[in-house]
Amino acid sequence: MIIELEQSSLLRALKCPECGTSHEVTVIQTVCTSCASTLFAQYDLNTGITKDSLVGRPANMWRYKEFLPVSNEKYIVTLGEGFTPVIPVCQLKKFTSDNEVFWKDESGNPTGSFKARGISAAVSKALELGVAVIATPTAGNAGGALAAYAARAGIKAIVYMPKQTPQIFKDECRLYGAELVEVDGSISDCGRLVNEQALVHGWFQLSTLKEPYRLEGKKTMGYEIAEQFNWQLPDVIFYPTGGGTGLIGIWKAFDEMEQLGWIGSKRPRMVAVQSESCDGIVKAFQTNKPVADFKDGGFTIANGLRVPKPYADRVILRVLSESNGTAITITDEEMSSALKEIARHEGMLIAPEGAALWQAFKKLKAKGWVRPGETVLLINTGSGYKYLENVVI
Ligand SMILES: *Cc1c(COP(=O)(O)O)cnc(C)c1O
Ligand SMILES: [Zn+2]
Repeated sequence: MIIELEQSSLLRALKCPECGTSHEVTVIQTVCTSCASTLFAQYDLNTGITKDSLVGRPANMWRYKEFLPVSNEKYIVTLGEGFTPVIPVCQLKKFTSDNEVFWKDESGNPTGSFKARGISAAVSKALELGVAVIATPTAGNAGGALAAYAARAGIKAIVYMPKQTPQIFKDECRLYGAELVEVDGSISDCGRLVNEQALVHGWFQLSTLKEPYRLEGKKTMGYEIAEQFNWQLPDVIFYPTGGGTGLIGIWKAFDEMEQLGWIGSKRPRMVAVQSESCDGIVKAFQTNKPVADFKDGGFTIANGLRVPKPYADRVILRVLSESNGTAITITDEEMSSALKEIARHEGMLIAPEGAALWQAFKKLKAKGWVRPGETVLLINTGSGYKYLENVVI
């Protein structure tokens, strides 16, 4: 008898990058059981799957399903996330001159940000493993995404969000049927509370990089970048860094694709862009420290960047140094003026986190760090529409 399993994932184990301990993928996992590091999903990459096999697949992130964690496709919870457009800078070319500069525009994702990718992967895997309640701390966008994907999966969602977050981020959670807890503090305070309550109630937590599969969803940006740039990676990638999932994920995707034989060994230089409010990664990078200090400078219009201490700070800093990249701080005023400049001249209403990259690009070009002729990719992580209550027009 042939039992047909709709098995597509080549996931084999969850491995700790710090101590090497391997973890089973058939049960719920969080962080390394030996040393509490973030776990990295490992796939069988010697399967002879070619990049040509992607032709004709659906235009969403599940086109890379072999390298995503869900074993049985019936558990995939999708709203069409991913395969977002790459858009060249147009009217603002006077600032880009001898560089080709592109946006990867994540604003069209379900719930308006790239958080949809990570949450789609994590909720799907949680559904496959039989989770009934998921809780998360959030700076805003992850909460909305979890609320939506949990609704679709029939899983209960509980979201802890800083009180200062714009109202629309709260409303969307409630509209999608999540339980919302407003916290007087930052995402770190939310994280502490979720942790306490999850232990009491047995909730599954989706906190950034303490759950292994959000990283896998965000990783698909790296696959898309390669595919959309015809397998020739850009020279520099700018990324607005909060918890750092996207930065780490994109880097992981490049490694996997090299092992698959889809790309060569050339890598972009990665730039972490942070808000003045929380620039612990920038400070650590500048002083050559392996980890970041806790820093919460309070409110920023880029709520996705208000992360006082990323859990995977060590990995973020490693990616920056391995890639010969750098890190740079941008103020709220700069983000606000970049947001308006891009809206007015490019027709894109992008998130302040994304707008920060435009300012960062201009600064690093002026310094000569971005060199003439280089191809540059800016990742606009979300839609500006949710942030407007904090933007003076
Ligand atoms: C969450 C978020 C970020 C930061 O992403 P990390 O993966 O946590 O570094 C950046 N921009 C937006 C719009 C976000 O929602
Ligand atoms: Zn470990």
